[in-house]
Amino acid sequence: MNQVLTAKDFTTDQEVRWCPGCGDYAILKSVRTTLAKIGRPPHEVVFVSGIGCAARFPYYVDSYGFHTIHGRAPAVATGVKLANPDLDVWVVGGDGDFLSIGGNHLLHALRRNMDLNLLLLNNAIYGLTKGQYSPTSSVGTRSPSTPGGSVDRPLNAALMALGAGARFVARSADTLQDHLPEVLTRAQAHKGASFVEIFQNCIVYNDAVWAGMATKAESFEKTIRVAHGEPLVFGKERDKGLVFDSRNGRMELTEAGDDAEKLATIHDETNWALACALSSMEGGDLPTALGVLYCDPVNDYGSDQEARNHFTTLSRDELSSLLHDGGTWEVK
Ligand code: SF4
Repeated sequence: MNQVLTAKDFTTDQEVRWCPGCGDYAILKSVRTTLAKIGRPPHEVVFVSGIGCAARFPYYVDSYGFHTIHGRAPAVATGVKLANPDLDVWVVGGDGDFLSIGGNHLLHALRRNMDLNLLLLNNAIYGLTKGQYSPTSSVGTRSPSTPGGSVDRPLNAALMALGAGARFVARSADTLQDHLPEVLTRAQAHKGASFVEIFQNCIVYNDAVWAGMATKAESFEKTIRVAHGEPLVFGKERDKGLVFDSRNGRMELTEAGDDAEKLATIHDETNWALACALSSMEGGDLPTALGVLYCDPVNDYGSDQEARNHFTTLSRDELSSLLHDGGTWEVK
């Protein structure tokens, strides 16, 4: 039975070493709160990370944890989950770690539908290594690696996850403390790979990169919070609606005032094409979509009997004989 826990139960004695004002603090707060609410005891929870500012997470959450190598956190987490399916496994990475160095590992964790909670802390920059542009940096980003402005088009992480076959894709932002815990709770409850993109501010190297969604008040016109079964409306007065055009797979804006709710498309989180259209909205008059964009569960990798039969636990002797069987050689 789940215990009554508080965020303090998931707080370590480690000094938190992010820059003052970093968005990671707010995300950490949301994660601890969410873990307490979920109620799994700390010894049943594991945090796995790669390299980067975000990758310091396992030090600050009082659970089991692995600070692994660059980009390989999804692979290590896959092993953890397969070895002990009862564990609640969270994987935390930044945009460089998850989408560049570890892009390959992330993609396969998603397509295999491993039961992992994958949190992408997207600040659109390499923070730890002093501000080089990353796979999600917008065109024109001036950085030590692109002093004249970057020319690469940024990767849309949610679209990438949908393309890789993820069955749960959601978005939120560091400062949205009324929203992020809700999204994290949904992600944890989903059986299978849950991909959550969290827009995060790097106050030192990419300040205000997600301006417009930093606070609830600012985000009224720039974002839309989607909810299953609810009309796609936004704006302070809820007077703007989004209509999904299935002919071209795009969202259209309708400024219909009082009629916006009637005209807007109803969000269906099981509709993959709609999720793609919502994820694609970038810039212009269209808002950034936040919330659960897609959730359509299927058997996760670990509970699929056929997949599980591929794995067996070997004794030390059996493993040793397997490793030394046949084509091995000694390097002198
Ligand atoms: Fe946060 Fe940026 Fe500092 Fe890294 S460099 S800790 S992302 S503010």
